Amino acid sequence: MKVFNLGCELQHGFEGWFASEADYDDQLARGFLECPVCSSKQIVRLPSAPRLNFGARSSEPAADDSAQADASSATPTPAVKQASSDVVAGSCDLALQAAWLQMARQVLQSTEDVGQRFAEEARKIHYGEAAERGIRGQATREQTESLMEEGIAVMPLVLPEALKSPLH
Ligand SMILES: [Zn+2]
Repeated sequence: MKVFNLGCELQHGFEGWFASEADYDDQLARGFLECPVCSSKQIVRLPSAPRLNFGARSSEPAADDSAQADASSATPTPAVKQASSDVVAGSCDLALQAAWLQMARQVLQSTEDVGQRFAEEARKIHYGEAAERGIRGQATREQTESLMEEGIAVMPLVLPEALKSPLH
C-alpha cells in the first residue's frame, strides 16, 4: 500500500491510497483521481512531506536495560543471605531487584524509624493521638496482625541490610 500526497491545481491537498506506484499512474491516466474538495481532475503528486507517525514510532524505553544497569551498580542485594525471608526469596530477576531496592529506599526516606515502638505509634497515628506520618519499625507477627485487624494500614517489609546501614 502506498500513500501519496496529492493536490489539485487549487492547492487542495489530500492523500491518495494506492496498491502501488503503477496503480497511481494508472488511476491518474484514467482520470479516476479527483480532488475531494473541488472535484478537479488536475491532480498532481506533491513531494511527500515527512509524515510524523508518533503512534507507530513511540517505543517503550528499554526499561529492562536501565533497571539492570542500576541493579548492577547498586550494592549487591543481600537477598541470598536472608534465606529465611519469604519476602525476597525468589526475586532473582535483576529488574525486580532494582525496583525493590528503589521502593525500599523510598520507604526509608519517607518514613520515621520508630523502632520497637512501631505498633504503639501506628495505633497513635491511627487514632489521631500522634501526628499523621509514615513510620517504620519492628513489630512481631502478632502485633502486625492485630494492627491489621484494627484496620490500621501496615505493610510487612523486609528491608535489605544494604539500605539500612548507610542511614545510621
Ligand atoms: Zn481541489
